[in-house]
Amino acid sequence: MKSLAILGSTGSIGVSTLDIVAAHPERFRVVALTAGRNLALLEQQIRTLHPELVAVPDAADAESLRARLGAAAPRILSGRDGLIACAADTGAQMVVSAIVGAAGLEPTLAAIEAGIDVALANKETLVAAGKVVMSAVARHGIHLFPVDSEHSAIFQSLAGHRKDDVRRLILTASGGPFRDRTAGELELVTPADALAHPTWNMGQKITIDSATMMNKGLEVIEAHWLFDLPPEKIAVHIHPESVVHSMVEYVDGSVIAQLGIPDMKTPIALALSWPERLALDLPPLDLCSLGRLHFHEPDNTRFPSLALAYRALRSGGTAPAALNAANEEAVAAFLGHRLGFSVIPQVIAAVLDRQAVLPADTLAEVLAADAAARQTARQLISTEFGGTR
Ligand code: NAD
Ligand code: MG
Repeated sequence: MKSLAILGSTGSIGVSTLDIVAAHPERFRVVALTAGRNLALLEQQIRTLHPELVAVPDAADAESLRARLGAAAPRILSGRDGLIACAADTGAQMVVSAIVGAAGLEPTLAAIEAGIDVALANKETLVAAGKVVMSAVARHGIHLFPVDSEHSAIFQSLAGHRKDDVRRLILTASGGPFRDRTAGELELVTPADALAHPTWNMGQKITIDSATMMNKGLEVIEAHWLFDLPPEKIAVHIHPESVVHSMVEYVDGSVIAQLGIPDMKTPIALALSWPERLALDLPPLDLCSLGRLHFHEPDNTRFPSLALAYRALRSGGTAPAALNAANEEAVAAFLGHRLGFSVIPQVIAAVLDRQAVLPADTLAEVLAADAAARQTARQLISTEFGGTR
């Protein structure tokens, strides 16, 4: 029986994780849950799972959750300290890090520092603070299991091989809903258009990141930290079917890939149970009825965000934290109809141009870079890039 603390339990990854837990009640016990604003779903999860500890960001939400649950209420905390307590203080054997955005950084780091294994969905944590996080992982000797499907595929394709024999990693990308749109058409894209993803059903922020290709950029940086390879050894192929989840090419020309239907339950379950595999009730991958799989190079002209991520990774230091923060602000502005779709990468590039690259060796340095980049991005969105939508 493995005890789990689930950070971001009401999101797409959180709900899929709880589906796996419900299908394997003999394997998992949920001791802590955290969520943002979906109190109705959180209440239902608490009534079903009986966690010992729960946290929400807002104190008033914590109070109304207590009132809703009455005698069934567990300890309910709020704010940053509440999130950190859920991550680090419950004696959980594994933390599932599935909050979206840099908000997930501090609780994830707290779990690692408490010596707890982490199933990591929250890629922004590694993008912003890769050095801080990976050195904490090494110092505390914990396991950091990737949940992102591409990184799970690479993790599986590396198993049993020597890292020295790797020529390069090849991350696959669906290309998002706009992979065939012209630059002119991209300027007219609305949030509603962008939220309809062809193959994956995900939270809003990552769905927009998939449409701009920044999701793949964040994943290149995530792969750099997880697998300790330089940017020139990490390639991206567009693969619209989303069946080959990623590949490792070795020095002898062998390419090892992991395939499956596009469903996050597979990589989530593997992170929860590695090295065992849990039986999942998913339709099998039927390659014969698919018939063909397609691959092509990404188009950096129509989708500049991927190249911006490579640029930030090569710059090093605080540049990826600035990239991530600027992207979060630009995506929020796009979703709020305050910024055009094609302007998202322009805001990020402008923030990278303006922000000095400093060392990112401590959490404080990362948080300062994140805050500075957000401020610059917000200013640019309301002035220089204002009125683009
Ligand atoms: P989501 O928006 O569906 O869920 C996010 C969760 O975090 C929710 O429970 C929300 O209440 C909570 N949350 C949001 N802001 C918060 C804050 N400030 N403080 C505390 N909690 C907060 O997102 P998702 O699609 O489940 O993605 C979660 C993470 O996993 C992201 O980092 C994403 O990039 C990554 N990821 C998701 C998928 C996917 O298929 N959804 C795949 C790979 C990686
Ligand atoms: Mg992914």
